[in-house]
Amino acid sequence: MRTILLGAPGSGKGTQGDLVAKRFGFPRISTGDLLRLAVQQRTALGKAAEALMKQGLLVSDEIVEGLVRERISSPDCRSGYILDGFPRNLAQAHALEKMDGKRPEVVIGIEVPTPILVKRLSRRWVCPECQAVYNMNVQAPKDKGRCDACRSDLIQRDDDKPEVIRERIKVYQDQTEKLIRYYQKKSVYRPVNGEGTVKAIFQRMAGVLAAELAKLEENRVRP
Ligand code: AMP
Repeated sequence: MRTILLGAPGSGKGTQGDLVAKRFGFPRISTGDLLRLAVQQRTALGKAAEALMKQGLLVSDEIVEGLVRERISSPDCRSGYILDGFPRNLAQAHALEKMDGKRPEVVIGIEVPTPILVKRLSRRWVCPECQAVYNMNVQAPKDKGRCDACRSDLIQRDDDKPEVIRERIKVYQDQTEKLIRYYQKKSVYRPVNGEGTVKAIFQRMAGVLAAELAKLEENRVRP
């Protein structure tokens, strides 16, 4: 089963994706994380992506499609995987179907009103070492400015600065929302209310995924 997480920046895709990955045993693949790693390691691909990412703009389809193609061919993705941040436009959705078209899929759309997204992103701090994510209001680290897990100093992402946040949300609304209509037509889109506590949202997401996996299993055993 392929699970695609759709949702604006700040909708909680990363946090929820991690929890879902742990509960269901599928790896979470975040194109944002893969790109940030390439930037950090100063690879050619990272250098090509860096300026666009800083402005909150999308990196070329070719680059991200290459990253995803390589990642999903790993043995740990054989029984399924969770995509966070990909596809982000229709061209990427079509490319994904070409790469791995036969796999059943479910698309979970995490829905959050824009003012809440802006508030969440401007209070987000991340650990540059282990990628843990904190929110200074609802999920603050125990020691101010320090990662609970690995004790590194927390940083604010370049693209979580207020002027860039608005650009990222606009890019999402312009491009990614077309994907919702596309997946609605395919009857695989499942909206989830993304407001509330991390635990409450996770319970909604886990409910959706468990139901989809049960349906898949039922179809498999039916003669
Ligand atoms: P994210 O962590 O998903 O918010 O992604 C951070 C940034 O990485 C985005 O603002 C884009 O610049 C880039 N990025 C991540 N995924 C994609 C994608 N599927 N297509 C194009 N650019 C992407």
